[in-house]
Amino acid sequence: MPLRLETQVLTLTTKHPFIIARGGQSEYRTVMVKLVDDDGVEGWGEAAPTKFYGETTETVLAALPYYATALPDDPFRIEDAELRWATMLRGNPAARAALSAALHDLVGKRLGMPVWKLWGLDAAKAPRSTFTIGLDTTERIRAKVLEAAEYPILKVKLGTDRDVEILRTLRETTDREIRVDANCGWSVSQAVRMLPVLEEFGVTVLEQPLPPEQVDGLGAIRRRASIPLIADESCRTAADIPALVGNVDGINIKLAKCGSLREALRMIAIARAHGMVVMVGCMIESSLAITAAAQVTPLVDIVDLDGAALLRDDPMAGATIAGGQLRLPDGPGLGVRRR
Ligand code: MG
Repeated sequence: MPLRLETQVLTLTTKHPFIIARGGQSEYRTVMVKLVDDDGVEGWGEAAPTKFYGETTETVLAALPYYATALPDDPFRIEDAELRWATMLRGNPAARAALSAALHDLVGKRLGMPVWKLWGLDAAKAPRSTFTIGLDTTERIRAKVLEAAEYPILKVKLGTDRDVEILRTLRETTDREIRVDANCGWSVSQAVRMLPVLEEFGVTVLEQPLPPEQVDGLGAIRRRASIPLIADESCRTAADIPALVGNVDGINIKLAKCGSLREALRMIAIARAHGMVVMVGCMIESSLAITAAAQVTPLVDIVDLDGAALLRDDPMAGATIAGGQLRLPDGPGLGVRRR
């Protein structure tokens, strides 16, 4: 029963230009993957490439046909397929994550069951999701906070020379919960200076203040911090976790970094064994990739799956974060359909 690969570029536009400490834009091109079996059953996935992690739309489109030469004869043998892909062409995590999601979708559809249910999870345990406020002028940040009134938890991007002003603007505009992501934009001394400011404005979580390789620096910040410190850019796969133990409180898992749903589950297990906080995040991507990541949310503490909610033109329907609460679909596989 050989599988057939089809790909399609999805052009996505955010409602506002999405800017973080290392830049940003309004237009994103992800790649939709379809794996079609002999009976015409389709498994869907989506690759959301990020230059920071070495991928572009073009590298995904180049890698996928190569990975497709090693599609499993039996789509249920996901572990073998993922291991083969990870060793035949290293890197390319977003491309591999799309194939992983598509196999999970296909298997769930063949069994008539949602992936989260196959894993024995309770969809009602999915936490609330944050909604991200990207970098912008003070006036536009205020407008975005008001526009995002339905979301009870905001995540604000920092790592600029106006961080205090941005936080003050947020706090003057809302009394909702605020989490901060500096996207590698601070030094240890800047972060230590910012800690009392974060406290003053009631920030509850600090994500990735330092460049990825500065793991000891993260430890120095953690020893002075009164709020949980989460590693994102410093934690791509399970292999990164041992060095982070003791230096951060938790990790942010993204399929476009770790390359597979099964790797995401391994990361959760390893982080839990070390008593770490587990977060799941996303890129700017449609509800297809968001729903793949959402399958693990009943197992995590912090959810940041707003990538599709930030879009003007989401072509897919699946998991939602309306009112902030993440809701998993009941349909078989990932439970995603075209809008
Ligand atoms: Mg982050």
